[in-house]
Amino acid sequence: MKVFIQTLVLIGFLQVYNVDSARENSNSKVDVNLEMAEPCDFLKCSLPNCRCSDVKLCEKIQTEKIPQFVTVTFDDAVTALNFEYCDKIFENIRNPDGCSPSATFYFNHEYTDYTKIHFLWTKGHELALHSMTHGMGTSYWKEATVDVFLKEFGQQLEMIEHFAKIDKRDVKGMRVPHLQISGNDSFIAAKKLGLLYDSSWPTTRFTSPPLWPYTLDYKSVQDCPIGECPDASIPGLWENPLVSWEDTKGYKCAMLDACIHMPNDTTKDLVNWMISNFNRHYLTNRAPFGIYLHSAWFQKGEHYFEAFREFIRYLNKKPDVYFVSASQVIEYMRNPVEGKPFKECPRKHKSTCNAKMCQLRKIDSKDVRYMNVCGSCPAVYPWIENPLGLKITTF
Ligand code: ZN
Repeated sequence: MKVFIQTLVLIGFLQVYNVDSARENSNSKVDVNLEMAEPCDFLKCSLPNCRCSDVKLCEKIQTEKIPQFVTVTFDDAVTALNFEYCDKIFENIRNPDGCSPSATFYFNHEYTDYTKIHFLWTKGHELALHSMTHGMGTSYWKEATVDVFLKEFGQQLEMIEHFAKIDKRDVKGMRVPHLQISGNDSFIAAKKLGLLYDSSWPTTRFTSPPLWPYTLDYKSVQDCPIGECPDASIPGLWENPLVSWEDTKGYKCAMLDACIHMPNDTTKDLVNWMISNFNRHYLTNRAPFGIYLHSAWFQKGEHYFEAFREFIRYLNKKPDVYFVSASQVIEYMRNPVEGKPFKECPRKHKSTCNAKMCQLRKIDSKDVRYMNVCGSCPAVYPWIENPLGLKITTF
C-alpha cells in the first residue's frame, strides 16, 4: 500500500519535473566526474561568460564612471507584510535612467502568498529560490547532497510556475537558507537547474575594496566564513557574493539582521551608519552594494524603517546609483559599460493571476495552512515530493 501511495505521488511529480536529470548526479559529495577548479587565468577567462573573482571590474572603465548598483534583497516567505514594506521603500523612487527600481526576493514556500509573488513579478521585481522547506537548521543544509538541493530548489521552481503563474525562465538565482553552502553541491544543483547565479556565499575578507560578482569556472579567491568552499569548476555559473556590512564595533555581518552592535535607534544615527557601509563600495571600486535583510529587521527598532527609507532617498539623489535586481547586476557584468548601464528598462508583465485563497492541511502534521494562489487550489498543502499538492489516493 505504502509503495502504491508513493507511486501515485511520484506520477504527478514526474509530469512536472525531470527526475532523470535530477538523479544523474545524486551523490556528489564524492563526485569523481567534477573537474577541480584551477587558479583563474585572466587570459582564458573572459566575458561575457567567464570572469575571475576579483575586486576590479575591468581596465577599460574608470572607476568613477561605473554605475553604482544597490541590490535590496529580502529573504524568506513573501507575505502581505513584507510586500507592503517593499512597496513603501520604493515609493516615488526612479533610477537615474527613468526605470523603476527593482528588489530581489529569495523566498521559501511555507507561508508564501503566491498572488503577491505574481504581483511583484508584474512590477519588475526579481523572484529567486530559497528552497521548499527551508530545512531544519543549518545541519540539514550542511549535509545536503545534490539530490536534496535539486528537490528543494527544483520543485520550488515548478511551484512558482504553477501557483504564481510566472515564467520559470524569469527565475534565475538561488540562495541557500542560513547561507549554509556545502562545498560543491548547491552550486552543481544551481547549474543543473539552469540558473544563472547563486547568491549564498558571504565574504568578510573582501569588503574594502569589495568583491565583484564572478563565475565559478576557476578557483575563487573568496573566503568561506560559513560553509565549506566549493573546489570544483562550475562553468558559467555566476556567484553574486554577499559582501558583509560592518556594525558600529567593526564586526562583520552578511545580513543586516546579524549586525549586533547597532547605532542608537534614531533616524540620523541609523542613516549615517548605512551611509558609511555604502561608502566602502561607492568610494572605492563601486562593486554592487547589497542590502540583505529579512523584513522583520524593520521592526527591530522604532526608527529602523523610517531610517531605511531615508537612506534610500539619500542614495536616490545620486546621479549614478541604481536600485537593481541581482540578475540585472549579472547582466551588466557580462557587458560592463560606462554611465547608463542598460539599453532598456526591465520588462514588466501583465497580470494573469486569477487569485484564490485555499485552506489546506499539511500531510505530515495535519496543520492548517492558508495559501493564496493564482489559479485553482491544490488538494493538500504542497511540500517536498509533492510540489503541486496533488491528492494522495488511499484505498
Ligand atoms: Zn531564509
